[in-house]
Amino acid sequence: HLPLSILISLLASFAIYLFSGSRISLAYPISHAISHREFQVYCQPIINSEDGKCIGVETLMRWKNRRQEWVSPDVFIPLAEQHGLIIALTRYLIKQVSDNLAYFPSNANFYISINVAAQHFNNMEILKDIHDFWLPANPQVSLMLELTERTRLQELTAEQIEQLKAIGVQLAIDDFGTGHSSLSYLKTLNPDVLKIDRAFTAAIGTDAINATVTDSIITLAQRLKLKLIAEGVETREQADYLRDRKVEALQGYYFARPMPIDVFPIWLERYQQD
Ligand code: C2E
Ligand code: CA
Ligand code: CA
Ligand code: CA
Repeated sequence: HLPLSILISLLASFAIYLFSGSRISLAYPISHAISHREFQVYCQPIINSEDGKCIGVETLMRWKNRRQEWVSPDVFIPLAEQHGLIIALTRYLIKQVSDNLAYFPSNANFYISINVAAQHFNNMEILKDIHDFWLPANPQVSLMLELTERTRLQELTAEQIEQLKAIGVQLAIDDFGTGHSSLSYLKTLNPDVLKIDRAFTAAIGTDAINATVTDSIITLAQRLKLKLIAEGVETREQADYLRDRKVEALQGYYFARPMPIDVFPIWLERYQQD
């Protein structure tokens, strides 16, 4: 049997694991922040490249913590995923968006896009949340779900994808080109949209090798008859390049930065006047 000293050190490391700073100090503030409504929903417009009209928004979460500091989503989203809080966080966002539908055009062609973690898709909890929080709000706009290719979905079956599509949800693959999705994965997921990662938009006019990848992604999407949204469009040159190649939709600082959900209608009114 185990010597006492080893047993003690095992117990000690288990205790350290249980009570270590990382578990408590990181998970706790996020759940606290959800219940104290420290998260805010921001929206970034998505623009039709042909006619310049705003055809949708992507929702992006913002967190101003108790000390009034902004915490980047690149920090808190991975933490929320690790600590099993991403579903609660996304549910909160869906609820906020459905409570604030008045800020969006009543137009079924207009879409609100939400980033959804793979965990949330597995077990189809997302379908339940849409039924509980989105559909009862009777939205006049459509819903798009963005999913990255980094985490492969284990349990999403063709039937479940059909269920989502049957209630009018569009599926988008986010950050396309940065993961390692195979064509067979694309086929299973049967997405409506590919979002070109901003690294490939940034390459236009600056990085010949990555710009070749950008062109290949565009060709691939067009062969598969998928719509494209280019992210991170910051310059007129990038917007023109993408429009010339028939990329349907553009998103980026060139058009607008993410803004609080209640600022969006004010932005839209001004944008439509110009
Ligand atoms: P993402 O889904 O790829 O979102 C696009 C990011 O690019 C956003 O960063 C946006 O502010 C930024 N962006 C938009 N246009 C431009 C541009 O022209 N130039 C540059 N340099 N950046 C641009 P943000 O808001 O900091 O979010 C970072 C990431 O955090 C998101 O990347 C997404 O993966 C994650 N995230 C944010 N909100 C949520 C959420 O509610 N749920 C989930 N699951 N993830 C979220
Ligand atoms: Ca996204
Ligand atoms: Ca993205
Ligand atoms: Ca990204």
